[in-house]
Amino acid sequence: MPSNFFNFNSKLLNIAFEAEHMCKEQFNNIDSICQHNQSKVLSAFIKNRVSESHFYGSTGYGYDDIGRDCLDNVFSNIFQSSDSLVRHNFVNGTHALSVALFGVLRPGDLMVSVTGLPYDTLLDVIGINNIHNQNKCISNGSLKDFGINYSTHELLNDGTVDLCGIPNAVKSANLVYIQKSRGYSLRKPLSISDIYSIVKLVRTVNKTAVILVDNCYGEFVELIEPSSVGANLVVGSLIKNPGGGIVSTGGYITGDAELVKLTSYRLTSVGIGKEVGCTLNQSRQLFLGLFMAPQAVSNALKSSVFANALFYLLGFKTYPNIFDYRSDIISYIQLDSKERLISFCEGIQKGSPVDSFVKPTPWKMPGYNCNVIMAAGCFNMGASIELSADAPLKEPYGVFVQGGITYYAAKVGLLFAAQNLLDNKLLSI
Ligand SMILES: *Cc1c(COP(=O)(O)O)cnc(C)c1O
Repeated sequence: MPSNFFNFNSKLLNIAFEAEHMCKEQFNNIDSICQHNQSKVLSAFIKNRVSESHFYGSTGYGYDDIGRDCLDNVFSNIFQSSDSLVRHNFVNGTHALSVALFGVLRPGDLMVSVTGLPYDTLLDVIGINNIHNQNKCISNGSLKDFGINYSTHELLNDGTVDLCGIPNAVKSANLVYIQKSRGYSLRKPLSISDIYSIVKLVRTVNKTAVILVDNCYGEFVELIEPSSVGANLVVGSLIKNPGGGIVSTGGYITGDAELVKLTSYRLTSVGIGKEVGCTLNQSRQLFLGLFMAPQAVSNALKSSVFANALFYLLGFKTYPNIFDYRSDIISYIQLDSKERLISFCEGIQKGSPVDSFVKPTPWKMPGYNCNVIMAAGCFNMGASIELSADAPLKEPYGVFVQGGITYYAAKVGLLFAAQNLLDNKLLSI
C-alpha cells in the first residue's frame, strides 16, 4: 500500500489492503480480457500496415489523408464492422450520437429506446427534455422538430431491459436505440450477450430497423463489441475508453458501411462525407490512444472494482458488487449525504495528477437538469477514462466513479477520497 508519500490513516491502509485482496479474482478476469483485446488491436494494426507515414496530418480539405483512412480501417477491423468514421472533429460523445441519429433518421420515422430513457444529454437532441428547456415552443432543431417520433420502452423495476415487451415496442421502429452503459442511472449496464438477445428479439419482428448502440464506457470491457452481435451502428467518445487516455478530443461511429456513409454526410455534407476532413496533427495520438486503449480500460476497470471493494468495506452501498460481471467501467457509491458527496469529490481531486489543488464545486452543467459536481484532475479536460468522480446533487447522494489510466495512481486517488471523509469527520473507522 502507498504509505510513504501520503499521510493516510493506518487503519484505512489496512482496509485498503483487504479490499485489494478481495479483488484478486476480478483482476485476473480483467487481465485476460485485456490480453485478448490488446492482441486484437495489435493484429488490426499489423493487418493494416500502420506506419509512421500515417501519423503526418493533413491541412485544408484533407483529401487523400492516408492516416485518416487507415485509422478508420483499423477501427473497423477491431469492431468487426464494414466502415468507421473516427474523427477529432466530434466535440464529444453526444455530438457523435447526434450526428448518427440525424444521419439515418428521416421525417416521420420512429426511434425507440429499449433501455429506458437515454443518457441525459440526448434528451435535448431527441426533443423530449421539458425540464430545463424553458423555450419549449421555440423550434431548436431537435429530432422532434424535424418530425422524428420517439418512444421509450421502459426498463423493468429491477433496472433490466423488458425483453418480453420488445417485439411489440419495436414493430414499427425505424431505429432501435440501445445504451450499453448505466450512464447517470442505477440501471444495470448491458453485456454483449444482453445486446445480442435484444438484437435477436428486434429481428423477429423488424428486419430493417437500424439498431444503434451508445457504446460510451463499454469499449474493450468485454471480448467483443456490439457490432459483432448485430448492431448496425456503434457510437462512442474518444475521451473515454477507445482514446486510451491519450486522445485529446473526438468520437467515432462504426458499423454498416451504407449507414456510416449517411452519418458522414451529416458530419460534413451530403456527397462529400468521409472524403474530406483534415486531421491537423491529431493522427498519431488517435493511433496511439487506440493502441493503448485495452490497457487503459483494464486499469480503469481495476480501479472501479477496487473502489467498490474499498467503499463496501467502509460501510457504503456500492454497485455493481465486487464480484459482478463487468460490462462498463462505472462504479457507483451511495454516500447518503450531500456533505459526504462533496467531500468525496474533493478527495478525488486532491489525489489527481493535474489540478490537485483545485476544489470542485457543484454547478449547472449544460445538458443536465440539476446541479452536478465533478472531480476530474485530468490531462484531457473532463476525460472520464482518467480517474474522475461525478454526481448529480440529489438523493441518495451517490457518486459515479470511473476511469484510472493507471490503476496504482487511481488507487491512491480513491484513498484520498476516503481520507477526506475521515478528515471531515464524515466517516469513522
Ligand atoms: C459519456 C456518455 C455519453 C456522451 O457524453 P459526452 O459527455 O457528450 O461525451 C453518452 N452516453 C453515455 C452512456 C455516456 O456515458
